[in-house]
Amino acid sequence: MNAARPGGFRRRLKGYFLKRMRHMITCKEFEDFLISYLEDELPAKQRSIFEWHLGLCRECREYLAAYRRTMEIAEAVMSESGASIPEDVPEDLIKAILDARES
Ligand SMILES: [Zn+2]
Repeated sequence: MNAARPGGFRRRLKGYFLKRMRHMITCKEFEDFLISYLEDELPAKQRSIFEWHLGLCRECREYLAAYRRTMEIAEAVMSESGASIPEDVPEDLIKAILDARES
């Protein structure tokens, strides 16, 4: 019954905003800011831009949630050497996070 592709309109709308709004960040920039945001290192202005994108962009909200969850798992893995990684978390993602933390 519902012929519309889910998210199609929203995506177009988002693209429109992203192009036109000077202070808007793209999803790629969002990813770049993510670690600083989580470490509470963003200046207030960038932080509000970041949170604005977060409110507008479902993909990035899901990305953030997945990232946070993975961080929790990574920390659990680091603190208990015997802990096993849940099967639904890709091993290279954990590795990438661990590498990023070391640098
Ligand atoms: Zn986004």
